[in-house]
Amino acid sequence: MQLHSIPYEGIVIEYQLSYKDVKYINLRITAQGNVVVSAPKHAAFSVIDDFVRSRADWIFQHLAEIEQRKQSLPSRQLYDGKTLYLLGKAYTLHLSEGPKHITTYGDTLHMTTLQKTQEGMRKEYLTWLQHKAKRIFLQVLEDVYPFVAPYGIPYPILKIRNMRSIWGSCNIQQKVIRLNLQLIKTDLFCIREVIYHELAHFRYPNHNQAFYALLAEWMPDWKDAKTRMETMYRDGI
Ligand SMILES: [Zn+2]
Repeated sequence: MQLHSIPYEGIVIEYQLSYKDVKYINLRITAQGNVVVSAPKHAAFSVIDDFVRSRADWIFQHLAEIEQRKQSLPSRQLYDGKTLYLLGKAYTLHLSEGPKHITTYGDTLHMTTLQKTQEGMRKEYLTWLQHKAKRIFLQVLEDVYPFVAPYGIPYPILKIRNMRSIWGSCNIQQKVIRLNLQLIKTDLFCIREVIYHELAHFRYPNHNQAFYALLAEWMPDWKDAKTRMETMYRDGI
């Protein structure tokens, strides 16, 4: 593999060239944004360069898309100045060394830690979030329960777990509602929606029409919460 670069309208295109047992020149862009070219064994540099130049617009467009995607995915690292979400509000992380302590003040989330690794810091932060979540989720459950009790729905046991893909789940037999820890980053309206959703399952286990009718009765604008949860409040932690 060789690294080549060619100027194109004032911009340099870098590409990795390898010669292969192929008939035609082939160009692709990796997920990391590297331009990779494979060429027949005896292809001349000038021919390969011309080929890359002919694809320049396509290359720039793809590299721009990859860059945009990279920037829209929040980093999974905790660092000074990082944005973290809590109850729908954005905080700027202020990280310093010292005995374990986390507190919010204004728009700042102060975290002092003796942990040296990202993994250790992350664990400390998630434990703190878990305590917050337990208190808040229980409060919301208590607030909404009087509205669902008349439907014969039992007061559930609340469990919290850090999950990847779902906001909540329920076990009707065990009367358990399990909420995603990540939900504590969203606002109270969203938390209420997920709790109502899981409570509605005690009456209708499936997502049928009756289920959604009941959910709409309790929370006519539940769809707004869904939209917010899918598009906002992600901080990568
Ligand atoms: Zn459901």
